[in-house]
Amino acid sequence: MPNEVDDARGDRAQNGRRGRVIVVSGPSGVGKGTLLKRLFADAEFPLKTSVSATTRAPRPGERNGVEYWFMTRDEFLARRERGEFLESFEVYEGGALYGTLRETVEDAARNGDWVVLEIDVKGAKSVVAQIPDAVTIFIAPPSLDALRERLAARGSETPEDVAKRLAQASLELEQSDFYRYRVVNDKLDDAYAELVAVMREIARS
Ligand code: ADP
Ligand code: 5GP
Repeated sequence: MPNEVDDARGDRAQNGRRGRVIVVSGPSGVGKGTLLKRLFADAEFPLKTSVSATTRAPRPGERNGVEYWFMTRDEFLARRERGEFLESFEVYEGGALYGTLRETVEDAARNGDWVVLEIDVKGAKSVVAQIPDAVTIFIAPPSLDALRERLAARGSETPEDVAKRLAQASLELEQSDFYRYRVVNDKLDDAYAELVAVMREIARS
């Protein structure tokens, strides 16, 4: 008997739409949030955000249940123990935990939505292992220097965290060949146009 995650593999929902799982990765600070916010405001595609859970503190303006479900480490670990996460990841040893809630992806599959998972490379590999026809997109920076500037401009991490995120970024960039699509976010408008072109290709496939 197929489970709900299997339903995300191409079966149509009752409304006739085909649900899709779209995985977006790229180093912290590359502009994923900025690009996706714009894409979500565009009604051309039946997109749905997968709101991840995290143990990191909310940034100014971030709301519980919108950008993330913010929870304590204890709650996160208890829910992971109960098998509630499709995948989860620790940004670095002892750092914040992040995870995709299984229920979010299952609900989207049921409704024929295109659910967008904004997750790290390891998480992406874990999702593709479970949902092989998930579409993968990597957002790359024009350079590591540009990435450093964006992280500094965002101003939401301590200098120590910026250094850790940059080290993590180098590792992620080395693995970007794993992704079906790669979009370089140099000029925001150009990157956005490329992302829309990718979405149109997904709609045709
Ligand atoms: P992510 O979600 O990947 O961590 P954000 O969307 O928060 O990244 O972007 C990080 C910072 O870089 C933000 O301050 C954002 O305004 C800025 N930014 C995003 N795209 C560009 C771009 N193409 N050129 C310059 N700055 C950008
Ligand atoms: P930020 O703290 O900047 O919001 O996110 C840091 C990193 O965590 C980003 O690279 C983002 O892609 C990743 N991330 C966010 N949510 C999840 C998730 O649910 N699972 C995984 N594996 N990574 C996530």
